[in-house]
Amino acid sequence: MSSARAIVHVDMDAFYAAVEVLDHPQWRGLPLVVGELGPRSVVSTASYEARRYGVRSAMPTLTAKKICPQALFVPVRMNRYRELSADVFAVFGEVTPEIEGLSLDEAFLDVTRSLRLFGGDIENIGRFLKQEIFNRTGLVASVGMAHNKLLAKLASELSKPDGFLHIRSEQVHAMLDPLPVGRLWTVGKVAEANLHRLGIRTVGELRFAEPRRLRQACGNQAEHWQRLARGLDDRAVDTDAAEKSVSAETTFVTDLVTLEQALAWLVRLGERVGERLRAHELRGRTVSIKLRKPPFETHTRQLSLPQPTDSTTELLEAARTLLKRWWAAEPAPRLRLLGVGMSQFAPEVQTGLFAATASQDKLADQINRRFGQGSLVRGVVLKSRCGASEDG
Ligand SMILES: [Mg+2]
Repeated sequence: MSSARAIVHVDMDAFYAAVEVLDHPQWRGLPLVVGELGPRSVVSTASYEARRYGVRSAMPTLTAKKICPQALFVPVRMNRYRELSADVFAVFGEVTPEIEGLSLDEAFLDVTRSLRLFGGDIENIGRFLKQEIFNRTGLVASVGMAHNKLLAKLASELSKPDGFLHIRSEQVHAMLDPLPVGRLWTVGKVAEANLHRLGIRTVGELRFAEPRRLRQACGNQAEHWQRLARGLDDRAVDTDAAEKSVSAETTFVTDLVTLEQALAWLVRLGERVGERLRAHELRGRTVSIKLRKPPFETHTRQLSLPQPTDSTTELLEAARTLLKRWWAAEPAPRLRLLGVGMSQFAPEVQTGLFAATASQDKLADQINRRFGQGSLVRGVVLKSRCGASEDG
């Protein structure tokens, strides 16, 4: 029985190499290898141009040099990749707090409870993620969408680079059956060889294989693989509770230079965070703001509340305090980016206790959902709708 989940798998295309090209536009189009030439050095990431020659991650760089002599070898700059990874994950945090990061550039997102905020269509979420990641970082992500992790990951893999693929329930067998068994997640080289010995080369052949024969050859993994071959996977997106957060941020075309402008945007962002908190039935205790001074100096400030809350009003009160303090302490305050976030969530119980205080916000959410985002906004925003572009 497949549960009614909505899962997105996001994987940045040749991430480290793409960051190097972003920072060194003159390298665009060249076979590029991130990893220095040396006897003990391996390829961290190869650009697609280098992959065409057979260069792969984890290959010794000297081997890469042999098969692609004209490749450019550049050192790994982990701090820079981390910086951009944080921006990518910030986009995830605007869609859902249910994020399982697999590496700096890859994650599963459980967007089941976010669907309503995006018109009920997982593809709207996929498009939002791709577009926002590109707008904010200049980097390309591949996005796979499906009702479980196995299929979502497969969807991004099958469609990359610049991938965008939604595998619907009714398409599962048509998509999976022709694939080599080795494409199934967790079927490693040894398992693949075992299956080949049984004459099983495709996922379809695995799906129809006689279970007893399969068990004799492959032991107790057999049943698990056959489930995968049918496209079944009920693993949950494994969010690290300590890292869970809900946020919204926006980059400005023209830097904000007055506190009044900044406060107005803060309200807009706070509304979005509040709405997402309530959609996910989360109440947080720590409010944070993110501020970026041009060109790339990022500050964060946070404040803990006495009680966890999902109320936009309470969230905004704390965020305003933080923003005013930062503004007053900064010698030449100027904002290229502003973000608001909530974290440190209370366990999901005792909703009744909060129902009364949240009812006004819930009503606003319903109105916004029915009549379009921004139908109901707090007064102060309306005065400041010009002069900046919003990411979301
Ligand atoms: Mg990647």
